[in-house]
Amino acid sequence: MAEKLSRMYGTEEDKVNCPFYFKIGACRYENKCLRIHNRPSESQTILIKHMYQNSPTELALAQGNRVSEEEAQKALNHYEEFYEEVFLELASYGEIDDLIICDNIGDHMKGNVYVKYVRESEALKCLMSLKTRYYDKQQLQPEFSPVTDFSNAKCKQYIEGQCKRSGYCNYIHSKPIGRPFRRSLFRQMYEEHPEYKNRSRSRSRSDDDDRSKKKRKEKERSEKHEKDSKKRHSRSRSSHKKHKKDKDKKKKKSRSHSKHSKSASPGYKNSEERRAEIAKWGEDDDEEDMKVNASGLVNNNGTTNNNEQSDSNNKQGTHDYLAQLVKPQN
Ligand SMILES: [Zn+2]
Ligand SMILES: [Zn+2]
Repeated sequence: MAEKLSRMYGTEEDKVNCPFYFKIGACRYENKCLRIHNRPSESQTILIKHMYQNSPTELALAQGNRVSEEEAQKALNHYEEFYEEVFLELASYGEIDDLIICDNIGDHMKGNVYVKYVRESEALKCLMSLKTRYYDKQQLQPEFSPVTDFSNAKCKQYIEGQCKRSGYCNYIHSKPIGRPFRRSLFRQMYEEHPEYKNRSRSRSRSDDDDRSKKKRKEKERSEKHEKDSKKRHSRSRSSHKKHKKDKDKKKKKSRSHSKHSKSASPGYKNSEERRAEIAKWGEDDDEEDMKVNASGLVNNNGTTNNNEQSDSNNKQGTHDYLAQLVKPQN
């Protein structure tokens, strides 16, 4: 009996525990769900709800609308800048195993950010710190997530480009990120925190299993997508660099002595510049926020300003987004 119950746990057959919360860490019924959301008291994974603000172009793409190549490129830059900034800041709490940004646009998943650490103690450190922090004028909403194996949480149809629910799918549609770009962020993390690499790894067995399974899957997927990714990345980096260059011109800071300059591409901010940007995450935003609100300039209820409410069931989904980012439109 006990065995049967444990087999059913978190599946559709389980009438007590919510399978969506168990698998994805998010359920569209949220607190009104009739099944139990078993919130973990510790985990390697932190979910930061609604942290990423999709640009109007990304929302349009997630709903299957077409946009120009230029707009798609801008959206990609917007996303990559966010990914880089957040990755490197979250890495200051501990060694990151994975960082995922949802491409979903349903109310319970829009802009959700999952960060999985190698160690639970580091996830705890991250959670405690983020609770009092702001990003983009919104207080962060971090929580421990039950999800430690993203392969079960991600939408398989989306990966194959066939999800009919597009952005409104209840499984994770992980926004794609170029592999070389991602690799360069991991490299930067280990450069800034050599202690992550050097210390002895005291992973649990399940972590190891999880990791090797994930690596195998990633390898399979990467072989399939490597070409596309390379193409997209080389385009995106060059424009990314240009964008950063414009920004950096203003700062006129020499980065010749930066320890990153050797390995990172010239477009990267050095750590001082980044710290300056990250300082904006601080509590001061609270005050700033109130000032801005008082002047009536900003709607700060956590919603974005455009058409996310429109009904979806578009046949062309987020995969078009990929396709459009990869292939120039004619
Ligand atoms: Zn639920
Ligand atoms: Zn899907």
